[in-house]
Amino acid sequence: MTTNTDIAVHIEGMSKAYGSFIALKDINLTVKRGERIVICGPSGSGKSTMIRCINRLEEHQAGKITVLGTELNDDLSNIDEIRREVGMVFQHFNLFPHMTVLENCILAPMLVRKTSRADAEAMARKYLEKVKIPEQVGKFPGQLSGGQQQRVAIARSLCMQPDILLFDEPTSALDPEMISEVLDVMVNLASEGMTMLCVTHEMGFARQVADRVIFMAEGEIVEEGAPEEFFNAPKNDRTKQFLSQVIGH
Ligand code: ADP
Ligand code: MG
Repeated sequence: MTTNTDIAVHIEGMSKAYGSFIALKDINLTVKRGERIVICGPSGSGKSTMIRCINRLEEHQAGKITVLGTELNDDLSNIDEIRREVGMVFQHFNLFPHMTVLENCILAPMLVRKTSRADAEAMARKYLEKVKIPEQVGKFPGQLSGGQQQRVAIARSLCMQPDILLFDEPTSALDPEMISEVLDVMVNLASEGMTMLCVTHEMGFARQVADRVIFMAEGEIVEEGAPEEFFNAPKNDRTKQFLSQVIGH
């Protein structure tokens, strides 16, 4: 993107309702470029809704969201611009089932970035190598394990060369033995300076890579802090209760 702002995401006084149900209340969050944020909290607390608002998969009703210097409003060109720079990895991978791994990876760069097929394929092979599945390039998603599919989904996101990556419980749908192969890829991305907002309950990952951990409950950010402080000295009772359930404190 053309702006050189140091702020990746700025959310100010943001609220979001589904009909009369208020899913997010007065969210304030600033994420600098290169920061790694882990978002946790009980089911239904608004984690998915919050990160989905950042690339306008959901529309907020009040407050302001600015991504890489561009405000998300009704201007469709702003939305397109932001979506080009913000990748998203979902719990259920969301690969195109009728396309091969390679085709999944080259589609958006060719359509959206107007990359040539040869360049898009070269980039796809590079990122499939990075997520350690270059040999799966000709397969269909249904022929891969969950862990492999999620790594393809990450490679597909990387092919758009995003400035920011959003992850919504990327390991929650995986069999336990496949979780670490996906987390390893995420740890790698973090070490290379990718700006990441990850909804996850993998607290080992949070301790290892997060600059900040955010705890949400009932549509609000209840507490946030560096992992050391967040895990060792949580302040809010709801955070304490959540941590005791998740990691048995
Ligand atoms: P989390 O990701 O923390 O589990 P969500 O952001 O998915 O929570 O959901 C927050 C709340 O908003 C939940 O109560 C959920 O039922 C509600 N919600 C989410 N999506 C919709 C929707 N499309 N329509 C109505 N309610 C929704
Ligand atoms: Mg969710």
